[in-house]
Amino acid sequence: MKQGTIIGAVIGLAVGIVVSIALGRTLYLEESRAIDLEFRSDIDQLSAVFEREVLLNLEILYALKEAVSVLPEMNSERFGVMTKTILERSPAIQAFAWAPMVRRSDMPAFVREQREEFVNFQIRESGASGLREAGTRDWYVPVQFIEPLSENRTALGFDLASETSRLAALLKARATGNMAATAGIRLVQEPENQRGFLVFAPLYRSPTDDPSTGSAMQHYGFINGVFRIGELVSLAIGDELTGDILLQVYDRSGQDNTLLFSSDSADDERWEAEERYTSAVFDIGGREWVVEAVPSEAFVQSRRGGFPIFVALAGITLTCLVVGYFTLSVRRNSELSEAKTKLERISLTDSLTGLANRRHFDACLEREYRRAVRQGSALSLVMIDIDHFKEYNDEYGHPAGDACLKKVADSLRKVVNRPGDLVARYGGEEFGIVLPDTESPKDVGEFCRRAVEALEIPHKASSAASVVTISVGTSTLTPETWQQNLTDLLHRADEALYQAKETGRNWVCGA
Ligand code: GH3
Ligand code: MG
Ligand code: MG
Repeated sequence: MKQGTIIGAVIGLAVGIVVSIALGRTLYLEESRAIDLEFRSDIDQLSAVFEREVLLNLEILYALKEAVSVLPEMNSERFGVMTKTILERSPAIQAFAWAPMVRRSDMPAFVREQREEFVNFQIRESGASGLREAGTRDWYVPVQFIEPLSENRTALGFDLASETSRLAALLKARATGNMAATAGIRLVQEPENQRGFLVFAPLYRSPTDDPSTGSAMQHYGFINGVFRIGELVSLAIGDELTGDILLQVYDRSGQDNTLLFSSDSADDERWEAEERYTSAVFDIGGREWVVEAVPSEAFVQSRRGGFPIFVALAGITLTCLVVGYFTLSVRRNSELSEAKTKLERISLTDSLTGLANRRHFDACLEREYRRAVRQGSALSLVMIDIDHFKEYNDEYGHPAGDACLKKVADSLRKVVNRPGDLVARYGGEEFGIVLPDTESPKDVGEFCRRAVEALEIPHKASSAASVVTISVGTSTLTPETWQQNLTDLLHRADEALYQAKETGRNWVCGA
């Protein structure tokens, strides 16, 4: 195969493969983008559902606060009745607590009263080793009633004003009159793992029993809800949270960046950290929360289709097919043209001697004749006949005759070596030589005669010599003899050859 074809095929193959891979890659990136967009929109949706779930739970607290405000007095039994059903129906609410503001001066009386119901009642705060008796403060916000009591007994008496995060929310609720949430905290009643947050709703009452405060509504305490974040997440998202997405909830109020919930260990290697997506911020009781999500490698993989790879492979296959087909057809074409050239050569060549055959000789002579007339140049013809060749065959056999013909042909070929000259096997043991632009062919004829004689092929049966010889007749067409045609030229050469034979063979005669 030609080098050009190979280079063409290699370039075609390379271009096809590069284009296919580039196309596959573009589709792959496009697919990644689509997966990413879908993931973000999924997380936005989850985040909205979660926000709604949290707000719904806060609404319960709000409703409870409204209900409480119409009651004259609160006691543990009443508080229990009011909250029991709600708590049973709301798994994300760990507890509802009732916490009045108690001035230091009122504290002993308050504790005494509480001990009538709970023998060991004490106002407490968090210390290095668990809960301890609260230190001295101007005022306290102790948990007076809490439901369900059995699971939250530890929190009873806990001074909500003793801890910074709770205190901040308390003060905010009191100042604004609105519900205020704490930052994420570890719940005292469930210290192990559950993260939660408290929401305080401030309580007010008419100032009837204390004229000194005027007619303004008087703040006297808080009702608060304790919410479990994990529970809120699973209520909102539940089944949709597969192991393939790391879902986290952060409190990002002010300088804070508290992790409130994480569906899994964030350190795990399977999370595609660069794909982390943060939802829009939403407000929970005056705090700013966000939902963050990270997909796992498996999540992304499960959403991928085989299309980009299919396109790349199909492109490569197609390229191979096209290049293969192209290469094959080029090869077939070159084989065909080789065969054609061979056929032409065969049809113009004499198979025994490899010289031009009679057909080639005639065509060449015709062509050179017309050229000579056109250009006004000379054209010569040399006719050669092996002497007593019949006897040679008879003496040495036909195969030896063939071998002799080949040797003679080779020696003639060597003598005639000008580019335009043509040596042909004219027929049997006869040869013809076309000599364009030649006025005196006798020299060539003589060279041929000597060359054959010099072969020294023994020929016992010849009367002309002891070796194989030839007789040569030549004729020439010059501008002066143009009126003669080709037949005349051949005829004159033939006549000259006849004369050479007559002269005794192994002889050259010119017309
Ligand atoms: P002359 O000197 O007068 O030319 O005598 P000649 O015997 O050469 O002439 P003739 O025409 O009587 O015989 C030619 C012989 O050449 C006859 C034939 O057997 C032989 N011959 C022709 N073609 C071939 C060939 O291809 N192979 C062989 N071995 N012999 C051939
Ligand atoms: Mg003859
Ligand atoms: Mg002869």
